[in-house]
Amino acid sequence: MSQQVQQHPAGYVGHDSRGHFVHYCHCGKWAPFGYGARKGRLGEWFCGDHRREGPTPVIVTLSEIWLNKAIEAGKARQVYARRSNLRHYGKAQHDAAADDISGCIAEVAVAKHFRLPWKPNVGVIDAIDVGDKIEVRGRRVDSDGNKAGQDLQIRPKDKDHLPYVYAEVNADNTVRLVGWLYGQQGKGNDKYWNAACKCWWNPPPFRPISELMGIIRP
Ligand SMILES: [Zn+2]
Repeated sequence: MSQQVQQHPAGYVGHDSRGHFVHYCHCGKWAPFGYGARKGRLGEWFCGDHRREGPTPVIVTLSEIWLNKAIEAGKARQVYARRSNLRHYGKAQHDAAADDISGCIAEVAVAKHFRLPWKPNVGVIDAIDVGDKIEVRGRRVDSDGNKAGQDLQIRPKDKDHLPYVYAEVNADNTVRLVGWLYGQQGKGNDKYWNAACKCWWNPPPFRPISELMGIIRP
């Protein structure tokens, strides 16, 4: 018999018989990479191979009333943008109106999750997206699960001290809150700079939504 009896099942996060905090990946290996662990919360832990999976995403479903508000606001923003001939930052092949609508749906989902107020902000260019506290980068995911990209877009003029949440809007209009970075964190890496759109496309992993909840609602 092997001396190394596995004491804890794969994915175990908790305390061993001697009271030490131990954390294993879902594959069974020791998990040095943790997300969202803080006082009172064990967090989620991954091995080096699985760390990019990141923490469990938050899925938000909007009521019909709020979904319709978001869609109306998205349409109104698009009308305003056309009138004022604003530069559209999405990819050219995308439908700009659809981008505005999914952006609004993502904002409303973030407002719901963090229990913050949301305003349509049509034509208010410098407004902070949600509750004067959180900026949102929403992306539409096609019904076949095809994503335009999984990167968090940060522009040079974005605010260093504000959190930017990356959210994916599914075909059924549920919203997956994937993670977030401070504006400043999204500006550091030359590798991610895209000269054509003059922005950084930051790939995952991002910081966990549970961590941001601890900052917004300590
Ligand atoms: Zn693993």
